[in-house]
Amino acid sequence: PYRRVLEIYQQHLSPMQTAYFPQPLLLHQGHMEWLFDHEGNRYLDFFSGIVTISVGHCHPKVNAAAGKQLGRLWHTSAVFFHPQIHEYAEKLSALLPEPLKVIFLTNSGSEANDLAMLMARAHSKNTHIISFRGAYHGSSPHTHDLSNVGPFKMTLPGGVGCQSTMCPDVFRGPWGGSHCRDSPVQTIRKCSCAPDCCQAKDQYIEQFKDTLNTSVAKSIAGFFAEPIQGVNGVVQYPKGFLKEAFELVRERGGVCIADEVQTGFGRLGSHFWGFETHGVLPDIVTMAKGIGNGFPMAAVVTTAEIAKSLAKCVLHFNTFGGNPMACSIGSAVLEVIKEENLQENSREVGTYMLLKFAKLRDEFEIIGDVRGKGLMIGIEMVKDKTSRQPLPREEVNQIHEDCRHMGLLVGRGGVFSQTFRVVPPLCVTKPEVDFAVEVFRAAVIQHME
Ligand code: PMP
Repeated sequence: PYRRVLEIYQQHLSPMQTAYFPQPLLLHQGHMEWLFDHEGNRYLDFFSGIVTISVGHCHPKVNAAAGKQLGRLWHTSAVFFHPQIHEYAEKLSALLPEPLKVIFLTNSGSEANDLAMLMARAHSKNTHIISFRGAYHGSSPHTHDLSNVGPFKMTLPGGVGCQSTMCPDVFRGPWGGSHCRDSPVQTIRKCSCAPDCCQAKDQYIEQFKDTLNTSVAKSIAGFFAEPIQGVNGVVQYPKGFLKEAFELVRERGGVCIADEVQTGFGRLGSHFWGFETHGVLPDIVTMAKGIGNGFPMAAVVTTAEIAKSLAKCVLHFNTFGGNPMACSIGSAVLEVIKEENLQENSREVGTYMLLKFAKLRDEFEIIGDVRGKGLMIGIEMVKDKTSRQPLPREEVNQIHEDCRHMGLLVGRGGVFSQTFRVVPPLCVTKPEVDFAVEVFRAAVIQHME
């Protein structure tokens, strides 16, 4: 059956449907942080279905909520009310600060960001949208235009007025300064830099101003930022950068949008939302992935004022958004995060994991950087630490595949696919992290031999 599945993939699925590994994994079952293939081999899932499985595969409480709703009511469309949507809206809004209290439910992160773009334009009455180089905000035509990571860079003609600005990447950017980011790795690097070191931030802010002062200066509708870039390989900005960038955008009449599709729902550990780690308050927050633990679901949360501006311009409609199944599952996910203290687990186990991988970085010349926050960690592979040139793709592929054969699944990211993304479900344990670190270490050693 494995060969037949591959044939069907090749014959009938779009060539864009790329799979990891020359012999793609055929997954049959999942249980919490584990996945099982067609032969019953098990894998520790440290990619979580692209940062989506928040509380664990087939979590019993989420399954029970889904099963109960399945037998009651699946769908009503957005023109009828149902109790699950009200219950969910109350729960979600309680997790966001004032004045972010108005919720629109959609089915995917791309839809959520499309809607945020409409809101920004309706509210500001301006047209241009700005995002970072290296950003990923979705795959609809509009959000594609906003996305800018290697293979996702739009090469079709035309565009919708989105402009990318530099990426304030503290590892790859011209001003370096990994010490400038807020990370526990500092403690083992014994960085001599003053804690308020902000050289890199100031340089990037000057560049950001240059973008704002070009042709778009008079008509900025919105600025999109992921609190940590995910697809670009867990890229962090210098401390204080986002706060100043938000101020500059607002001075020019634009609204600020935090894309929490990967960073929300406690993944970063110290805070429930990524924007909180930067000390900023966005005007619009978009979220997806972890919100539904694998069930298609997403949301946009904004202020009453911005919601009104949109309502004046357009009747925005979404047939499936906020359907009873999604809302029941979403409510159960929020309950599990709270009951099982998963944000705290993310903080504690995430810090443990970051330090363990950082030790590997000190051990191996080809591990250029280990970074991230909570359970969102990037391991950037380089030819050597001095040149910081990306390790060639085939070599990274080999390490990736070796991890798979030893029972560990991790993701990839970055322009050259040179960064491993380590993003387990929030329920992961320290012994599982120990296993993952040992497997990764063995794969790197195998590569060096
Ligand atoms: N924003 C971010 C930060 C993402 O990582 C993604 C998906 N990788 C999206 C938006 C788009 O979400 P979806 O694939 O659900 O449309």
